[in-house]
Amino acid sequence: MTPDLSIVVPLYNEASGIETFHRRLCGCAGQVAAARGLRVEIVYVDDGSRDDTAVRAAQMPTLGVDVQVVALSRNFGKEAALMAGLDHARGDALLFMDGDGQHPPEMIETFVSLWRDEGYDVAYAVKADRLDEPTSRRLFVKSFYRLLNFGASTRIPEDAADFRLLSPRAVAALRRLPERNRFFKGLSNWIGFRQVAVPYRPDVRRFGNSSWSFWRLLGLSMEGLTSFSPAPLRIAAMAGAGLAGAALLYGFWITMEWLFWGIPVPGYPSLMVSIMVIGGMQLLVMGVMGEYVARILSEIKARPVYFVASHVLHPASPPASGE
Ligand code: UDP
Ligand code: MG
Repeated sequence: MTPDLSIVVPLYNEASGIETFHRRLCGCAGQVAAARGLRVEIVYVDDGSRDDTAVRAAQMPTLGVDVQVVALSRNFGKEAALMAGLDHARGDALLFMDGDGQHPPEMIETFVSLWRDEGYDVAYAVKADRLDEPTSRRLFVKSFYRLLNFGASTRIPEDAADFRLLSPRAVAALRRLPERNRFFKGLSNWIGFRQVAVPYRPDVRRFGNSSWSFWRLLGLSMEGLTSFSPAPLRIAAMAGAGLAGAALLYGFWITMEWLFWGIPVPGYPSLMVSIMVIGGMQLLVMGVMGEYVARILSEIKARPVYFVASHVLHPASPPASGE
């Protein structure tokens, strides 16, 4: 019997909090399952943790829900872990959430109700505010979404989290997307259907550390930009056109000065400035194009997104007394 709902949880170095999280998740998932007569499974994807997350996850009791533990052969990154979860999930509908306790499992009930009672296909959590984050990160995120949605045909909602439920037909649509460079939030928005945002405030991380550094965030942002938006190329072309236009006007102006007023054309400084501006622009544009070329190359190489080192499936057992 296949489950009706699979809950996919990527894990990277979460050994210290995984048991607490599992108990909390099983509690909420079990409640929803009982109330709605759904069969629920949890799919933990260990993304090559350096601590014993995978071992601990595989030993956890199955408090009333099926539990799969998929361990990847190394750290492939969260997007790859989510894809491994998508591939291994047996359920019709899918719910993705972080395993660090920041995504409150209590929201599962809200998501399921939006799906079952109101007929939504994608219910996703959106940060109510970002007051807890440093200003620099907020600014970065804001400009990223500006750029991402600049001239894009499908607007990706700002501040949406990976915490989301997809209905069976949304899951089927997501499975048909063939690309290897994945920006999951964008993809699950791009497929369309009926989408709804649910505001939430993430809990503080009580165990472990956030693995997001500035460089990781930058990498994910480039991923999102290059897979969803031609904006950087368009902006580069526009800057090039602007620069060429300005050069043309300036050229016209100094010619006029020389012809009518006999003012000699200043040589060295203006030459240096224009060479540096043009050189800088060209490098920038080549860098931007290089990002897209790198994505094309990685799509063409068509390497698998991840490798599985071990996979266990524990069928549900009734919750033990006292749990
Ligand atoms: N994660 C992962 N692979 C990685 C980094 C993170 O599977 O390479 C998981 C992590 O275990 C957590 C989720 O992705 O469940 C979100 O990560 P984190 O809490 O570090 O990010 P933040 O909440 O700060 O955005
Ligand atoms: Mg987190």
